Amino acid sequence: MNLGSMLLYWKPAIEISILWFVIYHIMLFFEGTRAINVLKGIIVLVLAFLLIQVFKLDNLDWLMTKLLGISVLALLVIFHPEIRQGLARLGQRHLFVPPLREEDLDIMLQGISTATDNLSRAKFGALIAIEKMDPLAGYIASGVAIDGRVSAELIEAIFTPNNPLHDGALVIQQGRIAAAGCLFPLALNQDLSRIYGTRHRAALGLSEETDALIVIVSEERGDISLVYGEKLYKDIKNDELIPKMKEILKQKEKNG
Ligand code: ATP
Ligand code: MG
Repeated sequence: MNLGSMLLYWKPAIEISILWFVIYHIMLFFEGTRAINVLKGIIVLVLAFLLIQVFKLDNLDWLMTKLLGISVLALLVIFHPEIRQGLARLGQRHLFVPPLREEDLDIMLQGISTATDNLSRAKFGALIAIEKMDPLAGYIASGVAIDGRVSAELIEAIFTPNNPLHDGALVIQQGRIAAAGCLFPLALNQDLSRIYGTRHRAALGLSEETDALIVIVSEERGDISLVYGEKLYKDIKNDELIPKMKEILKQKEKNG
C-alpha cells in the first residue's frame, strides 16, 4: 500500500476522531449551563440534515437549509454570554497543572481548616479561593500579592478585622497564598436566600466563571460553607471540611 492509498483509507477515521474530539469538548464547555440542552438539539438537527443529504430528500433539504441558516443566527444572539465565557476559558485553561504532592496538599488543607475553625469561633469573616484548572491570575491581580506559604497563622492574621487586607478574598495557587484583598464578580442568582450577602455572592460568582474551590467563613453566623461548581455547601462541620475539600480538589471536572 502506498502513502496515497493509506491516507485515503485513514482519512475518514481521522476526520471522525477530530469531529468527536471537538464535539466532546464543546459539550464539556457548556456542561451545566442552559446551553447544553440546546446543543444536544443542534446535534440531532445536524444528524437529520446529514441523513436528508444522504437520501437526497429535496423538499426537506430546502426546508432544513432555511431552518439551519436562521437558527445559527438566533443561537449566536441568544447564547452570546455562554459563547463568550466558553471561548475565554478555551484560551485560558491550563492544559496541565502538576498536582500538589500529597504532603503539601495535607499541609495546605490543615492550615485552611485550623484557620477557618478559629475565624469562625471569633466570628471573623473570610473568603478563600483555591485554584484548580482555571487560572485565577486575573483575580490575583485585583488584590495585593503575597506569595507566602499557607499557614493557619497567616490566614488568620489576614482576616483579622482592621488588617488592611481583611476585606476581599484570599487566593491560593499551587499550594501558596498568592494574594489577598482580591475582588470576585458577584453572582446575580435570584434564588439565593436573603441571609447571604455579598461575600457568599462573590464566592458563587467566581464559581460561575471558574472551577475554583471557595471556602467562606460567615461573619454574621460564624458558619463555614464551601462553594464549588456553582453550588453552595452550607454549614460544613469542622471535621468534614478537610475530607470534603480533598474530594473536590481531586475531581477532574467541575461537574464531575
Ligand atoms: P457574612 O455572612 O460574613 O456577613 P455575607 O454573605 O452576608 O457574609 P457581607 O456581609 O455583604 O456578605 O460581607 C461583606 C464582605 O464580603 C466585604 O467586607 C468583603 O470582605 C467581602 N466581599 C464583598 N464583595 C466582595 C467581592 N466582590 N469580592 C471579594 N470579596 C467581597
Ligand atoms: Mg453579611
